[in-house]
Amino acid sequence: MDEVTLYERILGISDPWFVEHVELNAEAVHVYLGYDSGMALHCPICHQEARRYDAKPRTWRHMDTCQYQTLVHCDIPRTDCPEHGARQIEVPWAQRNGRFTHLFENTVIDWLQELSINAVARRFNLSWNAVDRIMRDAVARGLARRTSPDITHLSVDEVSRKKGHHYVTVISNRQGQVVGVQDGKDKDSLRSFYAALDQQQLTAIDTISMDMSPAYIYATLEEVPAAKRKICFDKFHVIQDLNKAVDGVRKTEMGQTATGDRRSLHLSRYLWLRNEQNLTQAHREMKAHLSRIATKTARAWAIVQYAKGLWDYSYPREAERAWLKWYGWAIRSRLTPMKTAAKAIKKKLWGIINAITKQRTNALAESINAKLKLIKVRAKGFRSNVRFQNTIWFYLGGLNLKH
Ligand SMILES: [Zn+2]
Repeated sequence: MDEVTLYERILGISDPWFVEHVELNAEAVHVYLGYDSGMALHCPICHQEARRYDAKPRTWRHMDTCQYQTLVHCDIPRTDCPEHGARQIEVPWAQRNGRFTHLFENTVIDWLQELSINAVARRFNLSWNAVDRIMRDAVARGLARRTSPDITHLSVDEVSRKKGHHYVTVISNRQGQVVGVQDGKDKDSLRSFYAALDQQQLTAIDTISMDMSPAYIYATLEEVPAAKRKICFDKFHVIQDLNKAVDGVRKTEMGQTATGDRRSLHLSRYLWLRNEQNLTQAHREMKAHLSRIATKTARAWAIVQYAKGLWDYSYPREAERAWLKWYGWAIRSRLTPMKTAAKAIKKKLWGIINAITKQRTNALAESINAKLKLIKVRAKGFRSNVRFQNTIWFYLGGLNLKH
């Protein structure tokens, strides 16, 4: 096989495109492509046959040939359309205005599954911006090709780009695929996701899992038909709220504790977040000790443990009775943070009962959260919300990203 045929195969090009010749110099392989001048040209806009106007030289980077960087060169014909004027025709190996061949970009996309942008940029000797551009184009392509994803069961959550700053709203489905990313974490953030759906799609939503904060509840009540039967407050977030209340009790109690014990109570913050069954022997002993010096925190913790056990009911009545019993206990606890949290829960008990009877588990929300955490660690920060949103789409959108 001669080098011309070899590179025609490698680049996957065929009539009317062909390899004119291949050159190797000290740094790179240069592949020169041509367009069969006997073939008719068509305007890229109206697809009418048009005369050749001129040709413009262009260069694209392709995957390396062994140790040599490989560059593809071609004089791209421009058509002279009576209606659209001089237009460069499309080429099959690269996108309009792209600097890389499709195959090169596909390789970069593959490597991005394994490495950070910085690492990929180093590996391919590209600028950070060039890799970012490839990612952005891939997401735009994937979104344009996307057919309506399954939205029967949704989870909504706010995610911060920096710790406690710059939020985006992420909507995912039962398959763990992100189906929506919106700027901010307010009512309008979620509302703009719903706004893109038609009435039939909105009606087809069966459950929407979320935390108990008002923004998402109101957006859903306003936009989704029969939302009051569909909103599920997931266990993960409900318990998170209760854990915050326990921490509130612990902080107050620390102020009332003898100096010697204050430090161990201070250090015990994460101990109180654990489930009884996940405690090691050392933890158990520490907790037994702390329970004697911090009786209020221990009581608050027990209230949360009890609530964690209230998610496995089949019938709404049964579930409601159990939760109201729990509420009675929490409200009589004389622990202000627990009382406040319990009141908030009672007001929104309907959504917890929905979650229980529709058996919405929190596994999904947690797995999306874990994946997002990894993405954030790998990226070491995002310059903007747009970058952050794009990265979420790239990794979790289940999109067809390649050329
Ligand atoms: Zn035209």
